[in-house]
Parts: sequence; structure tokens; C-alpha cells
Amino acid sequence: MGPETTAHLGLDDTDSPRGGCTTYLAALLLELLCELGVEWLDYPNLIRLNPNAPWKTRGNGAICLRFRCERELLDEVFARASELVAETAELWHENTHPGLVLLEGPVPAPVRLFAKKAIRGLVSVDEALKLCARYGARALGFKLGRGISGALAAIGETLVGDHTYELLAYRTPENRGLPRAVEARSVVEMDEATRPLTFNNYDPATGRVLITPRGPDPVLLGVRGESPDVVLRAFKMLRIGEPVERWAIFRTNQGTDAHLVRRLVRELRPHLPAIVRGYVIGSPRMIAGGHVIFSVSDGSGEVDCAAYEPSGPLRRVALSLWDGDVVEVAGGVKMGPGGRLTLNIERLKVVELAPKLLAENPRCPRCGKRMKSMGRGKGFRCPKCGLRDPGAQKVLVEAPRNIRPGLYLPPPRSQRHLTKPLRRYGLEKYGPPGPPRGEWFWPNPLRRRR
Ligand SMILES: [Zn+2]
Repeated sequence: MGPETTAHLGLDDTDSPRGGCTTYLAALLLELLCELGVEWLDYPNLIRLNPNAPWKTRGNGAICLRFRCERELLDEVFARASELVAETAELWHENTHPGLVLLEGPVPAPVRLFAKKAIRGLVSVDEALKLCARYGARALGFKLGRGISGALAAIGETLVGDHTYELLAYRTPENRGLPRAVEARSVVEMDEATRPLTFNNYDPATGRVLITPRGPDPVLLGVRGESPDVVLRAFKMLRIGEPVERWAIFRTNQGTDAHLVRRLVRELRPHLPAIVRGYVIGSPRMIAGGHVIFSVSDGSGEVDCAAYEPSGPLRRVALSLWDGDVVEVAGGVKMGPGGRLTLNIERLKVVELAPKLLAENPRCPRCGKRMKSMGRGKGFRCPKCGLRDPGAQKVLVEAPRNIRPGLYLPPPRSQRHLTKPLRRYGLEKYGPPGPPRGEWFWPNPLRRRR
């Protein structure tokens, strides 16, 4: 036995909108490394990066595998992983630029910071390559090699903060591209039996099943939840009408709001996720397509906030806001028409409601009927009894508010992977977890052989 070492293998940008999935490659790698005899330090990590990055792949998810093995095995690990990427990644696609990084030893602080930046902002391949060089990490890029930055970011996000789990199950090749045979009723039953410890299983308003993706990728389904045990239990409750090729449980930053960070309006830039706290300016307006726009000022500047049609009932709340309301708006920044920055709302917190004062015509002091204006500055007259009062003025009346302070999210069907669903509030967990226990991927080549 030679000297042992810990290692982190990061992987990103191997899929395309037409197929493939970086997590599938991770599941294959898992089995391969298992055969090579590594000792696992963690579940495979699925790290979602800034969902607003302009070059993001679907879902913008990167992978890291963390393990312990003999040092001399690392060459073979890296070579086998590179082969697998070359064979399996969707290299033909113009926007697929895979990257593979292998880092030895503990994760240095600057790599952890790099990960935070990749989740909350923008990073470059150059920055990633410099860090790889500084810490002696092996890096391999295919084509433009853009995936190297995601691969290093996945290594740097060690998930010591809040995290969740996802069990991902994959389809056999002959079924890929066909509708997924997962019985919807069993998804609802599973949700009822495991709530609140699983989330985003289906959309209550439409009944739409959310654990199955659409599209030709090899993912059959993904069950998201608070622990490895609960996602496995939930998976076993599902009635599935097609063969499952393999499955694996990932530890992830999904559903944790990891991308959101408080920023001042003047710090906002396109593609940055942000939380802005401020006052509503003026009144919200509905624009073509049913989208609702309102402006928020925090003293450093003013930004348009948009609740788009798919955000459903959240739009009603947005439309009911009023001048002076205190809100906390979270979402991704985009460059809107006319060079105005727009924050696309992913989460809306109504902190405090301002009194909604409306100017109304005075009532007639004689008969009580609402009076009519006789022209600007000329007072009012009563249409019923004819009383004229040249000195009468409009009166301010406090209108009832039809919303309450609170937290509002789009429906589950329109939530981002990183958005923390309402069900998770109060279930946050911290602290580094240990090595995986029990059943956590299948098939396990070692157990199969026994
Ligand atoms: Zn009157």
C-alpha cells in the first residue's frame, strides 16, 4: 500500500439541450471509481451555479466526487474520467464545452471563495485555470473548456452550509426520448407520505408531476428531500412502468437560495442574482403578456422588478403593492428595454404595508351624496340637492389593502433549482456530513459481484 490522499474530482458542462446530463456521467463515474477501490468521503455533490449566467447549460449544475485513495491511483482515476467524458459528453453540440478538474488534499479557501462567486455571480475559465495552477490541480478542458470553471466551483462548494439531497434515477437507452412512465397518482401519495421532508414533487395548482423532467435526457426522475433516507424511501414508493437503469443519491445546494445575496440597487449588474430591500415607488403596472412591473428604490437607486406570467399568483400580490410599501425582492438581474435594469422576481417578501391613501371627492354636508367637481380650484357641487361649496376640497381616504405582509414564491412549477421552497423554511441544516451510509447508489459493482 502506497501513501493515501484525499481527492476531489469536479465535472461540468457535458450535456446539451438535446440530451445527456452531467449527473448521469457522475453516476457512471461513481461505479467506475468504486471498482478502482476508492473510499468515499461524501455523497456525490450536485452544485447548482448562478442560474442567470449567460452561457449556462440547462440548470447549470456541476458535479464533485470526494474520496480517499492511494496517491498512485490518481493518474488512473483522471485518465478513466477523461475517457468517460470523451465517450459520453455531448461534444457535438456548439454550447457544450466540458471540463474536468482533480484537486488533491483539503479544499483551499480561495477555491471555496471561487465557488461562492460562481454561484452568486460570474467567473471566468482564466480565473479557474490560475487557481488550478496555484494548487496543483489537474484540469482538462474539451473544446473551449468552459466547464473547467464549473468543475472547480463544484470542488470549492463543500456544502458545509444548508443543503438537500436528490435521488436521480436514469432510463435505459431504448426509452430515452419517450414519455416517462411514472404513475402520477403514486407521486401524490409519495408526497403525502413524506412531506415536509421531500419537496417540489408536483405542482398542486395544475397537478403537474415535477419529479420527471421533459426532454430526451437520460434522467427518469429526481426526488428532492432533506435526507438520503427520505429520498430513497420516497423513490421506493413510486410506481414506475419502465426499467430503471441506475440511480444515485446526490448532496446538493438545490432548494437553499444559495445564489441569493443582498445587494444595493447601484451594485446591480446584468446576470447577477440579488436580494434588494427598499420602498415601492408609484403603483405597479400590468404590461402586455400579463406581466406585472413595479419600481423599488433603496436610496442608492431605483430598479424595475418584474413578476412574469408563469409566476402565477405572485403577480396578484405584485399588482396589489402600493407606493411606500417596504419589500424585499429577490431574483436575477437582466438588462431591460431602454437599458433599464430589471430584477426578475423569484421571491417577494412584503415586509410592511404603507397606508393606501386615495383622494376622493367630499360628501355633501346636507344630503350625504358624493359631490362633483366644478373645475380645478372651483370647489364642488352636489348632483342630488344642488348644494354648491366653492371652498370644498378632495379628502384623503385610507383604502383597504388586499394583501398581507409575508413571503410569496412562484408556484413550484416555475421555481428555480436553487429557490428555497416554502416547505423548507425551518428545515435548514448545517455542519459537514460524514461519508455516505447504507444504500446510496445502484448498481454497486462491488455488491453485485458478491
Ligand atoms: Zn346634497
